[in-house]
Amino acid sequence: MFDLATPVENLYLIGPARAKLLKHLGINTLADLLYYFPRAHQDLSHFTPIAELQIGDFANVKARVLEIKSFRTKVRRLTLTQALIEDDSGTITCVWFNQPFLTKVIHSQETFIFSGKILKSKNKLQMQNPIYEQEKAEQVHTSRLVPVYPLTASLTQKILRSIIKTYLDKTTLPEFLPSEIIAQEKLFDENRAVKTFHFPADWPALKTAQKRLAFDEVFLTQLRVLKYKKERMQEPVLPIKLVPDLADKIKSLPFELTATQARALQEILADFTKPYPANRLLEGDVGSGKTILAALAMWLASKNNLQSALLCPTEVLAQQHYINFLKLFLNDGFDLAIMTGSSIRLNGNPVSSATLLAQIRSGKVKMILGTHALLEEKVNFKNLSLVVIDEQHRFGVKQRATLKNFNNTHLLSMSATPIPRTLALTLYGDLDISRLDQLPSGRLPIKTELIDNVHRTSTYNFIRSQIKDGRQAFVICPLIEESDKLGVKSATAEYKKLSEEIYPDLKIGLLHGKLKPADKEKIMQKFKDNEIQILVSTSVVEVGVDVPNATVMLIEGAERFGLAQLHQFRGRVGRASFQSYCFLFSEDPNAMVNPRLLAVVRSTNGFELAEEDLKIRGAGNLYGTEQSGYSFKIATLSNLEMVERSKQYAEALVEADSTFAAYPLLKQRIEKQPVIHLE
Ligand code: ADP
Ligand code: MG
Repeated sequence: MFDLATPVENLYLIGPARAKLLKHLGINTLADLLYYFPRAHQDLSHFTPIAELQIGDFANVKARVLEIKSFRTKVRRLTLTQALIEDDSGTITCVWFNQPFLTKVIHSQETFIFSGKILKSKNKLQMQNPIYEQEKAEQVHTSRLVPVYPLTASLTQKILRSIIKTYLDKTTLPEFLPSEIIAQEKLFDENRAVKTFHFPADWPALKTAQKRLAFDEVFLTQLRVLKYKKERMQEPVLPIKLVPDLADKIKSLPFELTATQARALQEILADFTKPYPANRLLEGDVGSGKTILAALAMWLASKNNLQSALLCPTEVLAQQHYINFLKLFLNDGFDLAIMTGSSIRLNGNPVSSATLLAQIRSGKVKMILGTHALLEEKVNFKNLSLVVIDEQHRFGVKQRATLKNFNNTHLLSMSATPIPRTLALTLYGDLDISRLDQLPSGRLPIKTELIDNVHRTSTYNFIRSQIKDGRQAFVICPLIEESDKLGVKSATAEYKKLSEEIYPDLKIGLLHGKLKPADKEKIMQKFKDNEIQILVSTSVVEVGVDVPNATVMLIEGAERFGLAQLHQFRGRVGRASFQSYCFLFSEDPNAMVNPRLLAVVRSTNGFELAEEDLKIRGAGNLYGTEQSGYSFKIATLSNLEMVERSKQYAEALVEADSTFAAYPLLKQRIEKQPVIHLE
């Protein structure tokens, strides 16, 4: 029996050299070693006959190589290696990219084991980038479900596998979950789960082990987050009281709030009357009208003689909000300022930084909009009561950490990237969530199409007809300038092509992140004034930009963007009563079957797309998760009922005692989780 905290260099089988390699993988102690989980298992217990292979399989094939060759492709300038292989049932082609040395390793007429994914290309099945092992090579690690570990160079699968197996056999892992939960959820105990997850007897056993370890991840995250919530609820806060004028203010708006906006506003205002700081996330599709709710909440703070701040991820967005806020509030008897890297204004007029900072310190200015410039140390508020964070997912970990200084402040985050429900119950479990699930009326659903290159010209003609009708268009490109990255459209080149060849008679503009803020602002203003009819841009327009006259969103290289991002781009149009269109272009031949692109075409509902994104990418890769410091290595967060139940267990435990005194081992596990927290 070993102490789990034993440093790896003190374990036999592991000398100083191997200990160093293990440390590169983040393995410092015996516990780290045993919890270093495989990224996959390879089923080397049987082979599939080639004739029975199906698209999507991850298959093992034992086959003879008939021929193998490498060549350069004309279109994408890749080196392609192709091998035609054969077993008794049939033949299939294996394909590798940029591995020309393979022709020296894999020889024709020899028999190999190939393991890889089966895909379809040009109507024929092929195996892409298979791993291979010569048949006569030693197969001690291959006659079972074999764990495959994430590795760096110099440490082989075989060595790591042997070390882990040796120590798994010598260790009994302690149980940390309350036994009632294990019984109710029918879980493996920890020891069995970890051991089985490395070396399962079969697929069902692996699945049961996975279920337990996924439960651990979800449950521990929930406990950690709920503990944080409970602690935050002990903090004092400046109350923001309702004022009678609020109803009149709402009536004076240029539009009537939708029912869902009214409900969300109720929820936000109700938070302010509680004796602890609110922490609410307002989720709503692009264009669902979140800003006005933030504006009203901030207005109420100002009427309480308290300060409030609106944090925006970009200058463009801060400026746009400031212009709108001035229109709404300039005559309401309090001062409004903006502070970004390049613009400092008070009630619309430029002032010096020193002046504004002094007024923020004295509490004279009530509403302050800005970018992360507002988070700098020199900014000292007198009585900051409410911080609103627009497009919260765009703020990096460091900036989020700074937000922790707003312990006694109500927080309202806004996001157009809806969070899947399971994620909301775990990572965001400390937040109260309001959803705007209805767009302001009079909006037509945006028509989305995936366009192949053949239809490029007719789409350009269609866009011309929209412009003739007085509308405007966005063209989004993945890059600013041409790079060696093949076939990727750049904004600069696309701007040149559109303004010189396709639309020489139209007014085209170019926007990207490398422009000076003042120039960016100028271009955005021109686009708003319809002095630019087609705006070619990089992803800088992703966030929040509001030009209701624009009806076309053309996205080049669409396969290069994430699902949430594509949905965000699309939200730049369809903001008025005109029918709007989103065209997805791609040079990638696989684009037509790309599940992300097809999902965007199929649905305009952000909440649906969020669930879809979770399915396609898995929990580990979603917005927020990678930035949160928490990791979901095993949990896929696809099982809503399980996540709901574990949330209930977690709530009950935290409610009873958030120091977890009765569960010392559980407490240890909770504390080992990272502490970076989402706002
Ligand atoms: P988002 O939720 O994407 O931040 P905005 O707050 O920018 O959306 O709102 C999008 C547009 O809809 C804005 O021009 C805003 O003035 C307008 N809007 C908001 N609420 C309503 C409403 N109830 N009726 C009509 N238009 C509205
Ligand atoms: Mg917005």
